Amino acid sequence: MAAELVCFAPTCRTRFPITELLYNCPKCGSLLEAIYEPLEQSALMLKRVWRERRTSNAPLDQSGVWRFRELIPFLASYNCVVTLREGNTPLLEARQAAQYAGLDRLVFKHQGFNPTGSFKDNGMTCGTAQALRLGRTRVACVSTGNTSASMAAYASAAGLQPIIFIPHGNISYGKLAQALEYGARTLQVEANFDQILALVRQIAEQLGIYLLNSINPFRIEGQKTIMAEMLDQRDWQAPDWVVLPGGNLGNTAAFGKALREMKELGLISRLPRLAVIQAEGAAPFYELVHKTQKSRAKKPQLQAVEHPETLATAIKIGDPVSWPKALYEVTTSQGVAEKVTEQEIADAKAVIGRCGIGCEPASAATLAGLKKLIAAGIIPADADVVAVLTGHVLKDPDYIYRYHTGVLEGPGGEHIHSNYGNQPLVVPNDPAEIARVLG
Ligand SMILES: *Cc1c(COP(=O)(O)O)cnc(C)c1O
Ligand SMILES: [Zn+2]
Repeated sequence: MAAELVCFAPTCRTRFPITELLYNCPKCGSLLEAIYEPLEQSALMLKRVWRERRTSNAPLDQSGVWRFRELIPFLASYNCVVTLREGNTPLLEARQAAQYAGLDRLVFKHQGFNPTGSFKDNGMTCGTAQALRLGRTRVACVSTGNTSASMAAYASAAGLQPIIFIPHGNISYGKLAQALEYGARTLQVEANFDQILALVRQIAEQLGIYLLNSINPFRIEGQKTIMAEMLDQRDWQAPDWVVLPGGNLGNTAAFGKALREMKELGLISRLPRLAVIQAEGAAPFYELVHKTQKSRAKKPQLQAVEHPETLATAIKIGDPVSWPKALYEVTTSQGVAEKVTEQEIADAKAVIGRCGIGCEPASAATLAGLKKLIAAGIIPADADVVAVLTGHVLKDPDYIYRYHTGVLEGPGGEHIHSNYGNQPLVVPNDPAEIARVLG
């Protein structure tokens, strides 16, 4: 068997067929991951093939995920793949952002350039392929955010029915709008996130619905290609640091796995260090990493945050499911975790906007975190850094308008200063007056 699922717990490591319908290890309940037999191709061959596919007109080659299919060989055939040309996101140099953080140079890998505007698309093309392969006709997730938007698009494109469960009274309109437009059956349940998750698990089994929540190991496989594409774009020169926001920590798990596997394949000669940034009001992983690094605890355990609070809704997660994988990857890469305030996120976001780049609030945590890590001397000013912007600027226009007009409030009602504000001006219908205003 070329590909298998394996339990992530070091004490278990039980293997299962790749086609078994599992979300957790049936023996011990831990997370699952995909593992593969060693590849036959050399690193040189892979680099050449991946580069050549950029000029191809075949849909599979045009996908920024499936172009790297040798790195994610969990399918037996590619007939069930649906691609919206996900990935293919740019590396953008940002001078003002570098200066703001205190770095000589800074490059963003902007995942907001994806078809539905976030990196969730990299994973969703894989998750839906696995759903089709397993003969499912319906897929579901619990989310009000980018996962819903992405799942709705990919499921509908694949002829699957997307079903979204959202906690009542916790709606983010930009993202929900996408889900509705892409044809998702949307159910608002009068319960909190965890209660709905338990409910959906029960219903999914009963109705044969395939779950595409964060723990889905095939989504993680797709998100690995973000790192492959980044390295291809850099001619396989690994950066010193990769900085990303942390919510459910699936992306941290994916990046770490990708970088380790690519090092084993000889595609890169060293591992970049991972820096995971969380919002202060939802920072259980930051606490865990610091506790672990200080005490070298044998059995680290994440302490969930019961009421996570942040305006960066994409990382408003109190009990991140992928923390064991993420902790392993941060430790293995000699990485760090940092936390940032609402004010720091808001200002960093405006600075990224001024670069002509823009991103959603959760993404801006990367720049805010970088600034702190550089000030603390953990990352030197001349480091080679790639920061990942996870979502598109238009995901949250309400936040933007409030920030620039000076009325943005944090989750606790605290005023957020419009330090980099850009107020629209009201002017009379008078050319002389307008000329005076524009000086
Ligand atoms: C999902 C998401 C995150 C958090 O990613 P995790 O893998 O859950 O840590 C951050 N930013 C954006 C824009 C997202 O959509
Ligand atoms: Zn197990």
